[in-house]
Amino acid sequence: MKANLFGLHHITAISSDVRRNMQFYTQVLGLRFVKKSVNQDDTGTYHLYYGNYTGAPGTALTFFPWAGLPRGRPGKGQSYATAFSMPSTSLAFWQARLARLNVTTFSLESRFNDQVLPFLDHDGLRLELIATAESDSRPPTPSVEIPAEHAIRGFHSTTLALHEAAPTATVLTGPMGYRLLSESGYRTRYTVGDGGPGTYVDLLTDPALPRGLSGAGTIHHVAFRTPDRASQVTARQILLDGALQVSPVIDRAYFKSIYYREPGGVLFEIATDQPGFAIDEPVETLGSKLSLPPHLEPHRAEIEASLPKLN
Ligand code: ZN
Repeated sequence: MKANLFGLHHITAISSDVRRNMQFYTQVLGLRFVKKSVNQDDTGTYHLYYGNYTGAPGTALTFFPWAGLPRGRPGKGQSYATAFSMPSTSLAFWQARLARLNVTTFSLESRFNDQVLPFLDHDGLRLELIATAESDSRPPTPSVEIPAEHAIRGFHSTTLALHEAAPTATVLTGPMGYRLLSESGYRTRYTVGDGGPGTYVDLLTDPALPRGLSGAGTIHHVAFRTPDRASQVTARQILLDGALQVSPVIDRAYFKSIYYREPGGVLFEIATDQPGFAIDEPVETLGSKLSLPPHLEPHRAEIEASLPKLN
């Protein structure tokens, strides 16, 4: 039995300054701010979501911003880099744009058949724009400075940095239903379902990489898509049968979630496609109000008073 997974659902990272976080992801990258909520385990902290117009599964990068939090160190035992998909014809546009906006970038890389533009956000979070010749039918969300033809389409892949790939690969290709797609040097790529951008998990065993340390500018967890509650319950049982320790189903309002740590140390989540971000505000105004799960609604006034202003 394999879990029924479609690829990446969302990726959650840790940041420091909340305003700079908002400015970078909405203005520099042109993602849409689709949900302003709070960390359910720490309601004095935001949980901010950036994605495409609807925040569709496979597009949402989310953040827990803690003001003044020291930087972590991306490295082994973590999701090391988060890659977005863009058309192959958009590379020059993004190179020029990131240079003009003084974003820290690194040399272009060739990875499998694609060109990769690596860059950092204001906290040192490792990001990549992948100019892919593969078809990506996900609708672009144009913004003020980024026309639709160059807009980010959603996630391309996550790269997990590992001491050894085999134990993680066993979980991916076993209960999670992923399959090996390609290998090059220290990197192996896995895909699931229909494949393509938004499904890929790359395992990277470069011995030069340090051990990862949690903090600002690092990834907290990687979530994978499953259609609904029933497929999630099935996935949970399959993972338990595979000797993984899995959390109970947790209601995150916009999706239901289960969590488990894969053998390489990365925290994984399986999240449902349903119900999505429009459950508590219209699509047209996503992100404009503080969204709270029902059990926190009675505490709205004190929660709002404890949160920093976003602008
Ligand atoms: Zn999550």
